[in-house]
Amino acid sequence: MSHQNQSFSTRAIHHGYDSTAHHGALTPPVHFTSTYAFETAEAGGEMFAGERAGHVYSRISNPTLDLLEGRIASLEGAEAGLALSSGIGAISAALWTLLSPGDELIVDATLYGCTFSFFHHGLAKFGITITHVDLTDADNLRAAITDKTKVVYFETPANPNMRLVDIKAVADIAGPQGVMVMVDNTYATPYLCQPLSLGADIVVHSATKYLGGHGDLVAGVIAGDFETINRIRLFGLKDMTGAVMSPMTAMLVMRGLKTLELRMERHCQSAGVVAQWLDARDEVKSVSYPGLKSFPQYDLATRQMNGYGGMIAFELYGGLDAGRALLNATTMIKCAVSLGDAETLMQHPASMTHSTYTPEERERHLISDGLVRISVGLEGVEDILADLHQAMAQLSFAQSA
Ligand SMILES: *Cc1c(COP(=O)(O)O)cnc(C)c1O
Repeated sequence: MSHQNQSFSTRAIHHGYDSTAHHGALTPPVHFTSTYAFETAEAGGEMFAGERAGHVYSRISNPTLDLLEGRIASLEGAEAGLALSSGIGAISAALWTLLSPGDELIVDATLYGCTFSFFHHGLAKFGITITHVDLTDADNLRAAITDKTKVVYFETPANPNMRLVDIKAVADIAGPQGVMVMVDNTYATPYLCQPLSLGADIVVHSATKYLGGHGDLVAGVIAGDFETINRIRLFGLKDMTGAVMSPMTAMLVMRGLKTLELRMERHCQSAGVVAQWLDARDEVKSVSYPGLKSFPQYDLATRQMNGYGGMIAFELYGGLDAGRALLNATTMIKCAVSLGDAETLMQHPASMTHSTYTPEERERHLISDGLVRISVGLEGVEDILADLHQAMAQLSFAQSA
């Protein structure tokens, strides 16, 4: 068991589990069950009526998922957590619950590709208005909120261009107007940033990324207050999406959480080195990494995050062609989407993760065609640099300074 005053890693390892209740088993049992036998017909009826606690069916709850949900809540400083089958499952279950036709969702300029697609091709199709506002200046929100605005949604840092949003500044404007603030905390993880402590109402994650951390699962989680999480569980998850997480996946995410702090420390350290290295290269036109002094929101990053993360976006002078050549020239570094794994992964957002945008939309939403995204892994940083070095040496385009 553990308590909220214990350290991050202690809670990530112990929270909510008492081995004496499970034959002394050090690691929690995985409850592979779809349904639960009721003691009596009356007890079953009371559970369905919400008058008695207990598990009914694993699309609603499962003891293995309960444990993960409690750990996520503890790490995010939330009352409650919810586990779902993917990040998009989490985002869609939450917003199908919180929004109705006629409502407005305000979002930052830049979003992960499938989130953008879900909003514009999913929610919009059912009568929800999506309004993009440049939230890097929170004052823009003041003028944008209308009586139809129900939720403000953003990523910080944003995928793929690393824009940051000042969570507290946004929450200070949205809160008094009764508008919920929902933050996609996938890039930062609760180790580097806890949006709820800054005034946000709901946090979502693609647990596929750093929380799982090993590139071997797809998962999503949500954290927030009891009432909202319960509503999302009983409507967005149970009825609207059915995006239920498997108990085996919950077990793997909990295994990942045990090393989240250690991994994030290493991701941050290595990404800082790689960002500086890229910044000093003649082939590189620009580097976006919150830990570089040249990063436009360096002060905000320093204030809002306990480290600068493992993700870097950069652009080569040769644009898209040079970026492609670089992706093809690395050997240890894999050309792959996803992020937050032990392996260093590099990809091209315009043709891959963010190809859900049209070219015009990408331009409007500040995702340039030449951008390359790198998820700095846990290998020896000297090997990451060596691979980048040999790959850069193969680039044959003319340099311009
Ligand atoms: C990957 C990602 C998602 C989607 O999560 P899945 O687990 O792939 O469904 C959402 N937001 C961000 C920022 C992501 O990187």
